[in-house]
Amino acid sequence: MIKTWSTPVREETRRKEPCALCGGSAFTAYLCCEGFAYVCCKNCSLAQINPQPDEAAISGRYSGVNYLEYELANEEAFLNLGLLSLADADFYKFESELPVDARRVLDIGCATGALLAYLLGRGWQADGVEINTAQAEYARRERGVNVYHLPLEKNMLEGGAYSLIIASHLIEHLRRPRVFLAEARRLLAPGGRLFLTTPNCDGFQARLFKNHWRSAIFDHLYLFSVKTLSRMLEQEGFYIEKTLTWGGLAAGIAPRPVKAAFDKLAKRFGFGDVMLIRAALRG
Ligand SMILES: [Zn+2]
Repeated sequence: MIKTWSTPVREETRRKEPCALCGGSAFTAYLCCEGFAYVCCKNCSLAQINPQPDEAAISGRYSGVNYLEYELANEEAFLNLGLLSLADADFYKFESELPVDARRVLDIGCATGALLAYLLGRGWQADGVEINTAQAEYARRERGVNVYHLPLEKNMLEGGAYSLIIASHLIEHLRRPRVFLAEARRLLAPGGRLFLTTPNCDGFQARLFKNHWRSAIFDHLYLFSVKTLSRMLEQEGFYIEKTLTWGGLAAGIAPRPVKAAFDKLAKRFGFGDVMLIRAALRG
């Protein structure tokens, strides 16, 4: 199976960290990949790379122009997936109930800004966060959106400003996912929603392919299941409104009608390869 594109494995200083979900320090082996490995927390079962690289090593991974090239080569496919996610998360109903002046979105890890440009076209005030400079500049120049280039919590954005926060294929790359969720919570306006998309390590493909699973890559520091991500969201003050998973079989491993049928089942029964959680602020 072809894995998702990632920074090639490199030598980095790594340090053992407490579990990002429960603070536990006992782990069992989970997936052993080439040059790195995942462990599972014995207490809460969160899958993670641990020992972990430090902050500098991680931001260094995203500094090159490779990410821009990768995104541009796949932009249309990624945008289409993003639009399907919006529809599945009942975005359009949510949008229709919002006053026009409250339509303010923040896309964290916005890449080239294609989804933001779409939302801008629908009348949203559209801001992005993108630490890859080449992509941030591209999004500003080509898409006319406002993009902050520091990691989310370092931009000192105005609290309560956004009615929608989107983070697609982002949280699994972060060293401090809870800090990220706490900041997302602070930035949401009352009644706002968070749409989080990430690979599902409880899905059929992850179970079948194990260390060859396409999402078991060097850049993914965490592999979430619906259970572990829901728990982290709840602990950070969110409640879960809706959970969806997609993708039953990888393209190319089964005839198309078989794949289509399997994909439908995966979506219906929650064993898809990627999940989306729609969360709101609690109380
Ligand atoms: Zn844990």
